[in-house]
Amino acid sequence: MTLAAAKAALSHLEMDENPVSVRAKSRDFFWYSPVLKARMDHLTADFVVSPTSEAEVIEVLRVAHREGVPVTVRGAGTGNYGQAMPLAGGIVLHMKNMVAVKAIHPGRVIVEPGCLIKDLDAATRAHSGQEQRMHPSTYATATIGGFIGGGSGGVGSCTWGVLRDLGNILRLRVVTAEAEPRVLEFTGEELHRVSHAYGTNGIITELEMPLAPTYDWVEIFVTHPEFATAVAFSGALGHEDGILKKLISVYEAPTAQAYFQRLAPHVVAGDHLIGLMIAPQSMDGFLTFLARYPGAKVVYRSDMTEWPRAPGPVYEYGWNHTTLRALKVDASITYLQVLYDADHYAAKIEAVRAAFPGELIQHLEGMRVGGRMAFAGLTLVNFTTEARLDEIVRQHEAMGCFVFNPHRYTLEEGGRQSADATQLAFKREADPKGLLNPGKMIAWDEPGFRYESIYEYKGMRAAE
Ligand code: FAD
Repeated sequence: MTLAAAKAALSHLEMDENPVSVRAKSRDFFWYSPVLKARMDHLTADFVVSPTSEAEVIEVLRVAHREGVPVTVRGAGTGNYGQAMPLAGGIVLHMKNMVAVKAIHPGRVIVEPGCLIKDLDAATRAHSGQEQRMHPSTYATATIGGFIGGGSGGVGSCTWGVLRDLGNILRLRVVTAEAEPRVLEFTGEELHRVSHAYGTNGIITELEMPLAPTYDWVEIFVTHPEFATAVAFSGALGHEDGILKKLISVYEAPTAQAYFQRLAPHVVAGDHLIGLMIAPQSMDGFLTFLARYPGAKVVYRSDMTEWPRAPGPVYEYGWNHTTLRALKVDASITYLQVLYDADHYAAKIEAVRAAFPGELIQHLEGMRVGGRMAFAGLTLVNFTTEARLDEIVRQHEAMGCFVFNPHRYTLEEGGRQSADATQLAFKREADPKGLLNPGKMIAWDEPGFRYESIYEYKGMRAAE
């Protein structure tokens, strides 16, 4: 590759070559994982380009193809599996300047990928009282393009399911990395070519997303002394279809007291905690539901409770923020991502609790899977060694729990441990030189890989 030639050809665009800031823009929240931290901490791109338009994205990809330079696209860098980190150097394509909200209609919005989700919601709320159906707990910092490229679901998933469910993304506009880049529009089955593909086979330059009505969500914390009942309460609430809700999080004790500093004065060590967002007009229904669960106690309501130190948004305790809060108190904590299916979640969660006393703390997020309540487990783990972590994953699998391993940087290992034929076929077409976010798709680099141990990308830039 001829980096110098690529740099010269793109020098009229916004470019950053300062090694310190290039390194900062080459990192994400990979350090959540001690496994990824050990492998990725040294990584950096050679330079950063921040396009202001689709035409400039095309220009960057044309030059990258001609000069054989890798391109790793970046939203805000809040991904936590090293998704946005350039394994083989080259260009970081930073989308921070492509932020336009282009059109707002009843039920849908058209937007550029670099728009922060909070800014997108502010625009649609002000325009017509609408908001995104779902967002990651990194609402304030993440981009909509990064959410579609690297995320899966989050706040809102207890009602709307996850991003890959039909109807949760309407249209994506994508630029390819060919000698002469093409601009393609995807709907329907084709959306999956590039959604959650980590930017390995195309750059999203425009998105059309569905909208839901916005409410002044009432944010609530409930405690319960029994964990199994807290889970049952949360699952049943998820199925109360007349009660509008956006978040159902469950935290096993002692999470609230040990890791949620602003909650700690208001709970006791044995309290299991439930975090909720409920529409104001559904509060009567919710309080009626709550009264059916003796022992359930509301300790915080954003519309009524005044604490000397307000807790801030309740969703910033949920999803991956839970791990972040725990890590700030105890650096030895890491986490897992487990799917507890709709039919068996109560029994499986109890079995896992019984199998790892003192080593795991349950954290569950309610979400709809196929229209029924299931739970994502973002289990807190007291980390000791990589070997033990792998063993914990294996034991979950042996108990019939599917693990999306967050200690892996490839699409396949963080997913279902098998090639995604749709994404691979599109990569062959759209990125013939394999320049887009190299090393993240095993099916492209090493189709015979057996998933018996962690995949180590051979093209990874060595530590100096
Ligand atoms: P980045 O991290 O910059 O990028 C993510 C991936 O998308 C990368 O592979 C990147 O190459 C690719 N990408 C970026 N822009 C484009 C583009 N224009 N075209 C093609 N590919 C692109 N995730 C969830 O799903 N739900 C959660 O609730 C959630 N909570 C989180 C909480 C914390 C505290 C943290 C640290 C992470 C959390 N995440 C969650 C992971 C992450 O925040 C989300 O996936 C987020 O949406 C990523 O947005 P970003 O703009 O930071 O993207």
